Amino acid sequence: MNTFTKEVMSVGEMACGTKLTVPVFSFKVAEEQKTGPDVYIQANMHGAEVQGNAVIFQLLELLPHCQLNANITLVPYANPLGNSHKSGEYTLGRFDPITGENWNRMYHFDQSIIEPFVKQYIDASDDEIEAKFAQLLTNEIEAKLAPSVWGLSTGQRIAYQLQRLAHKADIVLDLHTGPISSKHLYCSEYSQASAKYFNIEHTLLIPNGFGGAMDEAIFCPWWYLQEAFADSGREFTMGQGIFDKEAYTVELGSQEQIDLDVAKGDAKDLLTYLQYKGVIGGAEYQPKEMTRYACHLKDYKTFYAPMGGMVDYLAGFGKPIAAGEPLARILRMDVYGDSRLGKDDENTTKALHYVSLEEVAIPILHFASANVTQGSELYKVFTNYFEI
Ligand SMILES: [Zn+2]
Repeated sequence: MNTFTKEVMSVGEMACGTKLTVPVFSFKVAEEQKTGPDVYIQANMHGAEVQGNAVIFQLLELLPHCQLNANITLVPYANPLGNSHKSGEYTLGRFDPITGENWNRMYHFDQSIIEPFVKQYIDASDDEIEAKFAQLLTNEIEAKLAPSVWGLSTGQRIAYQLQRLAHKADIVLDLHTGPISSKHLYCSEYSQASAKYFNIEHTLLIPNGFGGAMDEAIFCPWWYLQEAFADSGREFTMGQGIFDKEAYTVELGSQEQIDLDVAKGDAKDLLTYLQYKGVIGGAEYQPKEMTRYACHLKDYKTFYAPMGGMVDYLAGFGKPIAAGEPLARILRMDVYGDSRLGKDDENTTKALHYVSLEEVAIPILHFASANVTQGSELYKVFTNYFEI
């Protein structure tokens, strides 16, 4: 049976001096037995998105019984500040409360490293390019973490230490959830073929562009490198025996929820993908038969609340909703009865408003509260979707 080691990584300090720590669980295989890509999995970078911790628990229960072909590192509670950021009974924790920055936009990549690297290694072997570039990414993050008189922001200190662990892996899974949400997967366009091994019905295909998120911090550098080599006349196909790096943001459902039974299923679904990638051996975990929908990021649209009010969310998740079919109805008690009191403008006296889209779409998630201001992100939907 495989056993893991556990370390406690310090990622910062509270005002009272108490250390902010995260647990790091590692399964390691002997170098001579290693045949698959190394994996890094983290959860709960956003404070309210807790289900990933339960999935890591279930993975830690299942992995000892798997045939391991590679190293796997698992980090629950990735952001100890975020997950204790409460207001009343709710967890906030999506943004640093001091700076307002999204905790998942503070990872590091400096695109200016690409061009000189390509110049230096244009004639190097594939293996040398891979090894040197992986080392360069690690050196970059080590340099950021090196003691400096200027220091780091709270969020950078957390993010960079997680990223240092992630750069040691070939596959990175960042476990998140939506607000009230269906399961969905953020997947780079080049790794679309892997999406059907996740047992997740909805996949968002994202283009190359680093915006500070963990998944992008892992795959964008390699993608930019591939493009820069191509511009210099040397073609690589990512994942075809070279630059075989994949990173995903896995959205596990709704925030503020732990369901250990669902988490067991989610863990097995992740093992299906890891088995496909050769991280674990055997054939126990097979992809499920399901209709898998995908859409490009540009077609993942936000429907903003056209008015303030109280929302009765009508549209379920995951299935196409026809044009004109109501997404939600919005209650406005402030104008209830006005028409009977002599005001006859139908729009300003209507207490119940049905809202809908003008095209077919698949609702993926909706706002967590029934109480919305005008302009709240009411729904996010797939448009121009297709099956994969
Ligand atoms: Zn998140």
